Amino acid sequence: MKEEIPQLFGTSGIRGELGDKITLELALKVGLAVGTFTGRGKKIVVGHDPRTSSPMMALAVTAGILQCGCDVLDLGMVPTPVVGYAAQQLGAHAGVMITASHNPSQFNGIKLWNPDGMAYRQEQERAIERIIHQESFERVSWDSLGRVEDIKSFIPTYVEDVLASVNVKPGLKVVVDCANGAASHISPLVLRRTGCQLVTLNSQPDGFFPGRNPEPSEANLGELMQVVKATGADLGIAHDGDADRMVAVDDEGRMADFDKLLALVSAQIGGTVVTTVDASAAIDRCLNNGNGKVERTKVGDVHVAEKVSEIEASFGGEPSGTWIHPHFCMCPDGILSGLRVIELVQKKGPLSKILDALPTYPTLRVKLDCEDENKASVMEKMEKDLPHLFTDVKDLNPIDGVRLTLEDDSWVLVRPSGTESYIRITLEGKSQERADNILKESKNLLRKTIESFKE
Ligand code: MG
Repeated sequence: MKEEIPQLFGTSGIRGELGDKITLELALKVGLAVGTFTGRGKKIVVGHDPRTSSPMMALAVTAGILQCGCDVLDLGMVPTPVVGYAAQQLGAHAGVMITASHNPSQFNGIKLWNPDGMAYRQEQERAIERIIHQESFERVSWDSLGRVEDIKSFIPTYVEDVLASVNVKPGLKVVVDCANGAASHISPLVLRRTGCQLVTLNSQPDGFFPGRNPEPSEANLGELMQVVKATGADLGIAHDGDADRMVAVDDEGRMADFDKLLALVSAQIGGTVVTTVDASAAIDRCLNNGNGKVERTKVGDVHVAEKVSEIEASFGGEPSGTWIHPHFCMCPDGILSGLRVIELVQKKGPLSKILDALPTYPTLRVKLDCEDENKASVMEKMEKDLPHLFTDVKDLNPIDGVRLTLEDDSWVLVRPSGTESYIRITLEGKSQERADNILKESKNLLRKTIESFKE
C-alpha cells in the first residue's frame, strides 16, 4: 500500500502559528530537505521578514542547508521579491523566504523559490514533503559542510534594477504604507529615487506590526486613505507583510478596485496577460480594444506564474494584488507593482478618473455547502448542465471549476473551495437584473445537483 505523506505546504508555502504547526525543528528539516533536493555544492538564497520569530527560523533553515553541503547566500531582512530576484541574478539554485505574508505576528511560514524566481511548483513541494517524511536527508561530513555568505550588498542592485525596469518620472506625490513589514526600508527608498514626493506610513520594520494588520484590506487601510486625502497625494500604495503584493488608494482616498487596477495596468503593458478564472471581465474589456489578449488560469499566484512562463506572457496578476512582471523576475513583486501604478497615473491621469471611467458590472458571490467527497461528482455534472441554463454561451473554461462567458460579457464561475467544504458561485452581470437572474438560475441548479449526490 502506498504510504500517506502528510501535506505541509498549503496554497502559499508552509504557514501556521509559531509553536503549533511552525517550529524550529520543522525549519531545520525544511533546510535539510531543500539542501538534499537541490544537491550538495549548490547555492541557496535565504531571506526573512521582520517577525520576532523570523531570524530564529532563518538560522534553523540555514543550519539544515549547510549540513547538506550547500552554501547559504544570506540576505537578512528583505521583502520576498528580493529573494526571488537575488536567486535569479546570482545564479543560485533555490531561494527560501521566511514569512507568513499577511498573517498576524504570531504566525510564520516558509516559502521556496526556483532559480528564475518562480515559487516552487506543487510537485517540488511534494518532493520536499517526501524527503521530510522519510527523513532521507543527505548530510555531508565535517569537511564538506556549506558556508554562509553575506549578500546584503545585493540589495542596492535590486533597487537600481527595479528602477531601471520602468519608466517613472519625478513629480507625483505618493503615500506608502509598508505595514511595518519587510518592505519598510526598500519600498520608500525605491519610491524616493523616482523623484516623487513621498510620505511614509508604518515604514519601520517591526515584527509586532504595531501600525496595522499586515493584510492590505480596506478595513486595515483607513489611515492610508485618510493621509492620501489630507495631504492631497496623487495615490497611496500599501504592501502586505512581505511585499509580494501591492494595493493602491486613489487620489480621492478610496481603495482602488483590484480588478479595475489590474485591468488598467494590463492594458498599459499590452500583449498576452494571464489572470485567474475568478478575476473580473474588466481585464478582457480593457485588453480587447486591440492591444492584447487574456489567458485565464487556476486561482493561485503560482498558477499565474507557471502560465506566464509557459506562454511567455507579458504580465500576470491575481485580483488580490499579486502581480508577476516577467521582464524582471517570475517572483511576484509588490514594489515593482507600485511603480507600475505610478507609471499608469503619469501616462493616463488621476487614478480616480481612470478607474471611474471603467464600467462597473454588478458582482455577486455565494457559497453552498457540499461534502468534500461529493465535490468532484457535483462539478462533473455542473460542467455538463450549467451551459444549458443559458442560450448565449460564448465560451466555457473548465480549468478550475467551470466558467461560462456569455454573449453580453456577463460571466459565471462555479468552483469548489480548495480548503473548505463549499462550492462557490461567482458572477458578473451586465446589469443588476441580469446578475440576479444568473445567480438565481445557477444557484438552483447547483443546489439540486448537490442534493442529488446526498445519500
Ligand atoms: Mg505576501
